[in-house]
Amino acid sequence: MAKSSFVYPENRPTVMKFGGTSVGDVAAFERVVNVVSGQAERLPIVVVSAMTKVTDALLAAFEMAKSGDLSGAVASLEPHWERHLEVERHFIPLEGSNLFLAELDLARGEISDLLLRTSRRSLPLSMLKDAIVSYGEQLSSRLLTEVLKAKGVNARHFDSRRLIVTDDEFGSATPIMQETTELVRLELTPAVETGEVPVMGGFIAGNRAGETTTLGRGGSDYSAAIVAAALNAGELQIWTDVTGVMTCDPRICSDARTIPVLSYEEAAELAYFGAKVLHPKTIKPAVDHGIPVRVCNTFEPEAVGTMVVAESGETPNKIKSIAHKKGITILRITSARMLGSYGFMSAVFQVFDRYRTVIDVISTSEVSIALTLDNTEAVDKIVEELRRLGDVEVDPGYAVVCVVGEGLRASTGLASKIFSTIDDVNIALVSHGASAVNLTFVVSEGDAALVIRKLHKEFFDS
Ligand code: ADP
Ligand code: ASP
Ligand code: MG
Repeated sequence: MAKSSFVYPENRPTVMKFGGTSVGDVAAFERVVNVVSGQAERLPIVVVSAMTKVTDALLAAFEMAKSGDLSGAVASLEPHWERHLEVERHFIPLEGSNLFLAELDLARGEISDLLLRTSRRSLPLSMLKDAIVSYGEQLSSRLLTEVLKAKGVNARHFDSRRLIVTDDEFGSATPIMQETTELVRLELTPAVETGEVPVMGGFIAGNRAGETTTLGRGGSDYSAAIVAAALNAGELQIWTDVTGVMTCDPRICSDARTIPVLSYEEAAELAYFGAKVLHPKTIKPAVDHGIPVRVCNTFEPEAVGTMVVAESGETPNKIKSIAHKKGITILRITSARMLGSYGFMSAVFQVFDRYRTVIDVISTSEVSIALTLDNTEAVDKIVEELRRLGDVEVDPGYAVVCVVGEGLRASTGLASKIFSTIDDVNIALVSHGASAVNLTFVVSEGDAALVIRKLHKEFFDS
């Protein structure tokens, strides 16, 4: 391939993201190798999550070290390193230098040092936590690179912490897109041009000072979308353990079905309201660059999965999917001063702004506002400030249910059909009309599964 004549618009790369269960063990790595090598002509760029359960284990080790159990923390990770070694032993020939083993040895030493610092609190804990948790993706991406190489793929590892530049918000950092785009292009374009397959860890990044940051739980999808946007990829493929985005969480309804096509707007709403199969921030970079997103199953690689594109069209019953999110808290703020006081709303929102807390669903009356939060980290301080504006009630234990479909807002009688299907359940809050494609309501957490099953039966039983 002539190096300088390579132009992406004619021959755009494909970003393939593999989630944790897609790199869980030897068989899973085998499937990934087949997917990547089967699409060699599509110029793959591989973004990979930590091996399944490793991120949770690293977070647990951090907590153990924080509470003083340093040796317990170090020991708790050993079974997970053994899982990496099992994959390494299966794929990587004994002769020759073994880059992964050297990398793992180094990582073990660095993690022990970081856990020690955690137990002594010798650096800010949020910084240490990200540094520790990043080893899940650092190691899975190094291992996958070596496995692909052993299988004849011209793979090359890239350290995402040097490519994706973020702000300093450890644990949920925001990428600085311009700098990231420049670095990703500078590093990955020549590699792709010369026939290499770049492999990088998802979820992990670095701030301008070079410290390790992370993009939030489930953030590998987002990393892949950032890379796809930077390179103007032809397609972003999210490889996971289910066949695409389904009519609801298959763990709730075993008869959930794959949705063939979704619009960006529908997918964004579903992801935001709890369809874990896509990280909520994945869609925006794809929309900005018009990149189609395909969600597919490593366990069923021949199935087409779900295509997420600009337009999806309406289905006969208007509803494409039902998402839900548990662990929701309702706040109700009532103020006599709200009567005629147009500053009240703004005063309330400023409190949430100050504590960087996102409101999911909101409903207002003349004297009160009810809203929902899923991040309650700052709720005590928020409530303290809101009490200056009026009476505040805090009510935990709810779930948001979000019914999504093109044409939903414009469809006469649909809301009434939805609510009559679940007329025996108390609805705590409703939001309809803000988006053309969603109807969202809040029920008690214990009712959520039943509500979803009833709606699924009513709208998707053929
Ligand atoms: P990965 O490790 O590949 O990122 P995740 O566990 O983050 O995978 O996401 C896949 C999971 O999302 C599925 O196993 C499924 O249980 C869950 N899920 C929730 N809602 C949906 C939905 N509407 N369609 C498909 N999967 C869903
Ligand atoms: N490994 C990270 C997590 O478990 C990121 C991801 O899997 O997307 O949250
Ligand atoms: Mg995920």
